[in-house]
Amino acid sequence: MNRRDFLKTAGGVLGAAAVIGPGLLVPKKSSATQTGAAQATRRLVINFDDGYSSQLTLAVPALISRGLTATIFPVTGRIGVEPGYMAPADIRYLKDAGFPIQNHTRNHSSLIKLTKAKVIAEVSNAAIDLQSMGIMAVPGVVAYPFGDVNPTVIKYLQGTKWVVGGRGIGGLGAPYNFLPDDFDRWNLNAVSVHSDTSTTDYLSAIQNMPENSVLILVWHEICLASPPDEYSFVLDELKKILDLIANLRDSGFLNVINMVQAVEYLYRRQMGLQ
Ligand SMILES: [Zn+2]
Repeated sequence: MNRRDFLKTAGGVLGAAAVIGPGLLVPKKSSATQTGAAQATRRLVINFDDGYSSQLTLAVPALISRGLTATIFPVTGRIGVEPGYMAPADIRYLKDAGFPIQNHTRNHSSLIKLTKAKVIAEVSNAAIDLQSMGIMAVPGVVAYPFGDVNPTVIKYLQGTKWVVGGRGIGGLGAPYNFLPDDFDRWNLNAVSVHSDTSTTDYLSAIQNMPENSVLILVWHEICLASPPDEYSFVLDELKKILDLIANLRDSGFLNVINMVQAVEYLYRRQMGLQ
C-alpha cells in the first residue's frame, strides 16, 4: 500500500469514528488532562486479547473508573460460543462504551502454519464476524495469534483490505519502545503482561519510557487471585498499573492512545509527516 492509499484508509477510520462519536478513539478525559496529553510525546496503548468474560467483568470497570479505555481483540469464533468468553452483546456494549474492537482472527490459529488462502480467511472472516456484531472496526490492525508472524504472512495480509498493520507479542525483555525508524508497522512488538513477572518491573518500564516512544501492553485473562498460569493477571495488580498510567497521563508525562491510532501515528512518523 502506498502512502496516499494508507492516508486515505486512515482518514476513513477517523471519519467513521467521528460519526459515531469522539469517545470511540479517544478516552474521555478532563480538559486539564487533554492539555497535558497534547504535550506528551510518549504514547501508551492498552490491549486486551481473546475476548475473555473476565476482561468485561473485572478489567473494564477498573479502566472506566480511571477514564481509560483499551483496544479489545476478540477471537470471533469463540464469542458467544465457548464458555469463559464474551457474547456478541458484550462486544457491542464495549464498542458503545468507547472501546475499539479489532481483529484477532476467527480461530486463533498460528498464521505462520497456514496457506495464503487460510491466512486471508482467518482475518477476513473475523472482520465479517465483527460486522455481524455491529462492529465496523476494520480496516485497522490485526493482532497475530500467539504473536506468530513472518515476512510471508505479512505479504499475504498486505494484499487484503482488512488490515493496515499488525501486532505481535513478547516479554519485557523484547524491544518494545518504537523510536524513530525503529519499527515495522506490520510487525509491532507488544509486551504481554504476565503474572510471573513482578508488577514493579512493568511500573518501572512505564516510568522509564523515553520521549517519542510507543509502549503497547497486552493482557489476557484477568482473575481475582491465584492465577492458574502466567497469562492470567490479578485484578489488584492490574489496578496498580492502571493507576500509574492514569497518573502519568494526568501529569502530562504520556498520552494513552488506541492501537489503530498507534499504527497510524507510527506510519505518519516514519513517512516524516509527524
Ligand atoms: Zn490471543
